[in-house]
Amino acid sequence: MKNAPTSSETPARPEVKCPRCGKSQVYSLQNPFRPFCSERCRTFDLAGWAEERYRLGSPALHEEDSLAETEASLDEPEDEQT
Ligand SMILES: [Zn+2]
Repeated sequence: MKNAPTSSETPARPEVKCPRCGKSQVYSLQNPFRPFCSERCRTFDLAGWAEERYRLGSPALHEEDSLAETEASLDEPEDEQT
């Protein structure tokens, strides 16, 4: 008893990778979320685009960096300026 290789018998089905999570899936016209693998990925992707648009020009990502920099400069002695 051995497992027959399915590659030769199974007809090649087109596979696509979900643009959101990269998960391979069989491309099916019955998949209402194509090319995404699921409703979750599709919604997430759309939300991501919208969010990205909102964030354009917003320095939210650098907030942490500037905070750290402020702390670092506070630790530095300012004796050199005297
Ligand atoms: Zn996905």
